[in-house]
Amino acid sequence: MDSSQAADLVNGIEKVAVVGAGTMGNGIAQVVATSGYPVTIIDPFEASLERAKGAIDNSLGRMVKKEKITADDASATMERISFSTSIEASAGTQWAVEAIPEVESLKEEVLSGLDSHVVEGGVIASNTSSISITRLASYTQRPERFVGMHFMNPVPMMKLVEVIKGHKTVDTVVEATMELSRKLGKEPWLAEDYPGFVANRILCPMLNEAMYALMEGVATKESIDEVMKLGMGHPMGPLTLADFVGLDVCLNILEVLHSELGDPKYRPCPLLRRMVAAGDLGRKTGRGFYDYS
Ligand code: NAD
Repeated sequence: MDSSQAADLVNGIEKVAVVGAGTMGNGIAQVVATSGYPVTIIDPFEASLERAKGAIDNSLGRMVKKEKITADDASATMERISFSTSIEASAGTQWAVEAIPEVESLKEEVLSGLDSHVVEGGVIASNTSSISITRLASYTQRPERFVGMHFMNPVPMMKLVEVIKGHKTVDTVVEATMELSRKLGKEPWLAEDYPGFVANRILCPMLNEAMYALMEGVATKESIDEVMKLGMGHPMGPLTLADFVGLDVCLNILEVLHSELGDPKYRPCPLLRRMVAAGDLGRKTGRGFYDYS
């Protein structure tokens, strides 16, 4: 691995594009801007861009209150962020991160758009939770410069970035992604491109098992959550965590593990399917295993 080439790649970043202004996109753009890079957030919906602006402003405001950054840092960070409804705004960027919904056909369109605009030699990263990095890379003409950059929610708080090496990703790009992640104040850890990578390969079956335990009457939801908190030192019980992640997201990842690994141990819990069908998706809809109304 040539680390000087990786360093050159990172040192050459003048401007970053983040596509998708949702939960993850606005967090990623915030940490990129906080670290000193100009960043453009791209989303076809004006309302999403407005929400992202408000969310970043609030998050920076909270950091000023906690004296983690100064008011001047916060306004300088905001000034480094621009907003656009057009993929063409990624023109001239050296690094792009895709964070649009977990729908492969949508990602295909956005990634091929980025491929036409990000500079030749630039890197395209995807924040996908579960779709194959190798398959996403094939929607571009630069699979060797395509990588998984899996941030955790909430991005400004969570230290981990799971870096995923696609089948054709070159070592220089992997090393550059690790280095850029460190510059963003994160701790990168490498995973190969297999379904669920590391984080969701291990987390989602555990959440699924907690749901089976609830469905089979092993214990109440409160009991299941407290056993895992008190007994295993987890900061949040699995059912509370599933509500936080979103039950539709959990189901989607389990479907990927089940279909791509073919092992019945990954079959999604029928209670999870029923709750998603009913629209009880967790915190975001006000109701999941718990009531947030
Ligand atoms: P989200 O639904 O909050 O946001 C998605 C954003 O993409 C929305 O603002 C939407 O308007 C925008 N969008 C839709 N179509 C678009 C298009 N064609 N071009 C540009 N923008 C478009 O989703 P999210 O939770 O931020 O997830 C984004 C990605 O990150 C997904 O791949 C997801 O699997 C992954 N991820 C999510 C989490 C999480 O906890 N939410 C954690 C890690 C990874």
